[in-house]
Order: sequence, then structure tokens, then C-alpha cells
Amino acid sequence: MIVRATGIPLAIYPYSSTSHIVHWLTRHHGKVSTLLKGAMRTNSRFPGEYELFSTSELLYFAKSNSMLYTAKECSLLQRRSAFRTDWRAMQTASYLAALLNKTTPEDAPHPELFGLYEELLDLAENFGGHHQFLPWAELQFADTHGHAPNLANCVLCSSETDLKFCASQGGVVCSPCSKHRKLPTLGSPPDVLSILRSWQQAGSPASVVKTALTGRQRTEVNSIASTFMLYHFNLNPLHRAAALAA
Ligand SMILES: [Zn+2]
Repeated sequence: MIVRATGIPLAIYPYSSTSHIVHWLTRHHGKVSTLLKGAMRTNSRFPGEYELFSTSELLYFAKSNSMLYTAKECSLLQRRSAFRTDWRAMQTASYLAALLNKTTPEDAPHPELFGLYEELLDLAENFGGHHQFLPWAELQFADTHGHAPNLANCVLCSSETDLKFCASQGGVVCSPCSKHRKLPTLGSPPDVLSILRSWQQAGSPASVVKTALTGRQRTEVNSIASTFMLYHFNLNPLHRAAALAA
């Protein structure tokens, strides 16, 4: 069966000395892997038609007994050029690609997730160089997965005072509940929780990247975000650290 799909490469690997294997996130077919035969030859059928973070239209043969499909045609629809020159934004986009690649199973269509990835890449071209962008993007990602952390009140008793972040409970817990249940919590003073709440509500990063953070707030925001991403999406904090070190 020949399938036509809109997709964005999540990872590109060499295969043999002349071909590429590309893992794509596609709009309607979820994550698919394709072999692009002869992609590295000078007379390749695919020159410049796919690259990381850019959207392409792809035509491939899908076989039911294989997880690796053969690409037939590929044409670039939208190049996101900012990532070629803005190294910090590119590191952010790399992290998002790693996040999507790690958390998306093969052949599990999730058009809303594709839409989010597309939107986050578009936004990362403009805002991805700001350190506030990544935690904001992670909050959007968690929301799309139905794992938006509850930052408003204790997830166990609904108390609104004396709250601390607890990754395993998927949000904040109050001091009495955390003591009673011996829950591990993270340093999360009210000012930091309030920043995260406002970012969670922000539909666009334009205002988010203008939030001035002290060194302490920045450390605590990232500690909460990385612990949450590790716990809920099993994402190695090293990916995150690499993006933020940029
Ligand atoms: Zn409580």
C-alpha cells in the first residue's frame, strides 16, 4: 500500500554507505520509519527534500509485516531555516525532537501531538533561544498528553497553602500530606509555583520569555520541570541539560 503523509523527521541515521533511515512524526500515521535508498548518492531522488525540524510530504510503501518502510518520494513543504543559524534555538528544537521520538510509539496516530510539535517548532524559531521557552513547551506537551501537572492546590486534599511540587503525584501537595505520606517533594516556593502556573495558562510564549527570573527561580523551575519529565515521560535529564546549557 502506498501512503502519502505529512511528516517531520525526528531523527536521521545513515544506513549502509548510501542510504538514510528517517524516523518521522507524521500527522495522521503517528511515528513511522522509512528507508531512503540512495539518499546520500549525488544523483539521489531526495536531495534537500527532508531535514530535521522541517515539514515534508512523504510517499512510502507500507508493508504490514515490517516496521521499516521504503520511501518513494519526498518533497519539502516548510523549511525552518532559523535552526541553521540560531544555535540555541536549534538545541531547543533538538530536545523537542528527542522528546517526541522517545515518547511516541510507532504507528500510533496522534494528529493533535503532530500539531503541537509543528507549532512548537514554529514558535521555537522565534522564541527557542530563550531559557523560559523549554519549560513552557514541556507544560504544553504534558497537557496534550493529559498529564498537565496540577499546580493550583494539593492533589490529595485540595489545600491551597504550604504547597510543594511532587512529581509522583503529578502536581503539588501540601506539607501535612507530604509528611503524612512521606512523599518526596522539590524546593518549590510560592513565587516559583506562581511562575509555573502563569506559564501553564499562557497560550503563547511571547509573554513567557519576558518573565525575568532570578538565578534561584531559574534553577528551581528547571529542577521541577526535569524531575517531572523524567517521572512521567522517562526522559533522560541529560537531553534537557544539553538544551539548557546552550
Ligand atoms: Zn494536602
